[in-house]
Amino acid sequence: MHGVVVGAPEQSEIGDPVPAMTAQSAAEASAIHTPSCSDSWVRGKRYRRVTLGRCWHHVGVRHFDLCIIGSGSGNSIIDDRFDHLSVALVEMGTFGGTCLNVGCIPSKMFVHPADLAASTLQAARLGVDLDLEGVRWQEVRDRIFGRIDPKAAKGRTYREQSRNVTVFDGRARFVGPRELDVGAAQTITADQVVIAAGSRPVIPDLAGLNSVDFHTSETVMRLAERPRSMIILGGGYVAAEFAHIFSAFGTAVTVLNRSEVLLRREDVDVAERFTELLGRRVDVRVKTSATLVERAADGRVRVHIEGPDQQPEQLDAEVLLVATGRTPNGDTLDLERGEIEADDDGLVIVDGYQRTSAAGVFALGDVSSRQQLKHVANKDARVVQHNLLHPVSMISGDRRFVPRAVFSMPQVASVGLTEAEAAEQGIDYVVSREDYGNTAFGWAMEDTEHFVKIIARTDSKVLLGAHLIGPHASSLIQPLIQAMSFEQPAPDVARGQYWIHPAMTEVVENALLGLAD
Ligand SMILES: Cc1cc2nc3c(=O)[nH]c(=O)nc-3n(C[C@H](O)[C@H](O)[C@H](O)COP(=O)(O)OP(=O)(O)OC[C@H]3O[C@@H](n4cnc5c(N)ncnc54)[C@H](O)[C@@H]3O)c2cc1C
Repeated sequence: MHGVVVGAPEQSEIGDPVPAMTAQSAAEASAIHTPSCSDSWVRGKRYRRVTLGRCWHHVGVRHFDLCIIGSGSGNSIIDDRFDHLSVALVEMGTFGGTCLNVGCIPSKMFVHPADLAASTLQAARLGVDLDLEGVRWQEVRDRIFGRIDPKAAKGRTYREQSRNVTVFDGRARFVGPRELDVGAAQTITADQVVIAAGSRPVIPDLAGLNSVDFHTSETVMRLAERPRSMIILGGGYVAAEFAHIFSAFGTAVTVLNRSEVLLRREDVDVAERFTELLGRRVDVRVKTSATLVERAADGRVRVHIEGPDQQPEQLDAEVLLVATGRTPNGDTLDLERGEIEADDDGLVIVDGYQRTSAAGVFALGDVSSRQQLKHVANKDARVVQHNLLHPVSMISGDRRFVPRAVFSMPQVASVGLTEAEAAEQGIDYVVSREDYGNTAFGWAMEDTEHFVKIIARTDSKVLLGAHLIGPHASSLIQPLIQAMSFEQPAPDVARGQYWIHPAMTEVVENALLGLAD
């Protein structure tokens, strides 16, 4: 880097309060940003001094201005403003990370054809008889990965051809402060390090699980054939989305969920309705635990379960999908050797500027965020990118209103507090709930099941939370996210603009009007 002088951050974006940089960390950051390389001899060994601070490195160890661990959201940091820096990008898996290869994008590319397949049921209610003649699984799968795989490969080639970027094909782990083993017996050092190592599926400690072939979200989208039957362990969004996809395509799906409802983090009204509606298409077993997994005589997977009545039962299926959550990859990085703090779950601890406890080391995305969402990882990456480039005027992200969506059937989308959370926090709140069926577009769909629920402060009518279940919920929620982000009172949002008639957005307008005096 070229003589950038670092001091305490001067300004930040709106958002969480950000702890001030300590004198010590400012001094250390200053040292990191003003490297002076000179060779020295200490006790007969030749060292290269790469910082003004405490880091001394063996000659022969490659040194970079910046090292990024993980090519998911971390890769998006490197743009032409980094052209003057030498950058090491370390990736141990498929280039492009989870969202592109095994997450948001392929799963939603499966959701759309699944929506089409499942629409036959809705059409019949409206007097349109559609027959689903079949789903050409291999064709659906190959269209999706025929688009994604070349993108991942192209992304990698582009980086490999960048003059200032070196791509390391290996698993990075810390061997010292800002010093990393990057596989193949190579060690590198860097003035600054970004940990963007993501998360991985949780594999539960379930008897017999390792004795059978099971799938996770990382493998199930590449199945050679569509299975006739599938058991899904888990009741979160990954389970909900794959239950929709496979059942719409004709697979007999059973979902095993320990708690009383699916999507248990959602507002209880939404979680209950979702459980009921998915349960019409899928065998949903709530308050049910898997106790043992084994291979049945016919080669299928057998899962022994115990339901609410404590009666043991066994279920067989061609495919077992484990969807019991994701855990951050912090525990795989030998963080303590890099003097980087993580919590007991392996989540790297960061401040509002995405700085870790170690000077010159940032973290972003799933490895440092409880909200494991791509839009959060993207936002973090923009914050880290800015802070690497502008160390004297760092910014922080804004985590007040992070929305999320579940692309199942029905869709679910939410932002802010649930009603239970508002009550728990002792906030004086009001609720407005509007059914899709009360709007003209709802009549068109003959909708009787879906709704919008919003929660606002009683006095100001500023929104505290919004919870939608129904068609296009992931898009319909956007004006509510905007209202919350800009603290616009519900009546102003409802009356201060035109709402297109008779669009589906009228359900949002009506919910807001429900809070007007
Ligand atoms: C099935 C599924 C569906 C999803 N759908 C959505 C959705 O609809 N909307 C949404 O917002 N989010 C969704 N997500 C979540 C989203 O994919 C993640 O939040 C996001 O991709 C995280 O980005 P990241 O950059 O933090 O990590 P990643 O994209 O996972 O990147 C981390 C990279 O680091 C690499 N790596 C890890 N450890 C090391 C190491 N030691 N050395 C070198 N490389 C390493 C990994 O191989 C990986 O490529 C979904 C996830 C799944 C699994």
